[in-house]
Amino acid sequence: MSRNYPLKRIRYWYAYDIDEICAVYKDMRLHPQTVLGWIKAGLKTADGTKPFLIMGHQLTEFLGNRNAAQKHKTQIHEMFCMSCKDIKMPYRKQVQITKYGYLHNMKAICPDCKKIMNKGISLEHYPTIKKFYAVVDVLQLYDCEVATATTHLPAQVLMQSSEPVQGELF
Ligand SMILES: [Zn+2]
Repeated sequence: MSRNYPLKRIRYWYAYDIDEICAVYKDMRLHPQTVLGWIKAGLKTADGTKPFLIMGHQLTEFLGNRNAAQKHKTQIHEMFCMSCKDIKMPYRKQVQITKYGYLHNMKAICPDCKKIMNKGISLEHYPTIKKFYAVVDVLQLYDCEVATATTHLPAQVLMQSSEPVQGELF
């Protein structure tokens, strides 16, 4: 679940117990279990013993990092470049989908650093992905089902699909 917790609500020098933190984000239905999860994930407590007390500035720091990480959570069609550490639009808006064990992998080239970006996807995401990109070298299995949809792809893209990934993306 992607949540952005407003930091302005937190009082910097106040020592919160878990219920009080939940009260701060009552409208977001923050649950005590979630806060315990944060503590496990690195949220610092005053002395590490129960009942847990969390200083406002520690909470601010933790949630600030968490919010920033959430920002990088990609939409179905978005890809994250590990090298640029940012969401990037696939080069030439081309992606390749291959079967990878039980999963499917979407592969594309970062337009800036030209490194390969990978993303695990589910087949049900395929129609969404197709709205944004030209899918080259389409998975055989799915190709049968969407045969009519693929015929409108530019001939150039269809031709490229038989070439190795480097050749088709550069
Ligand atoms: Zn990059």
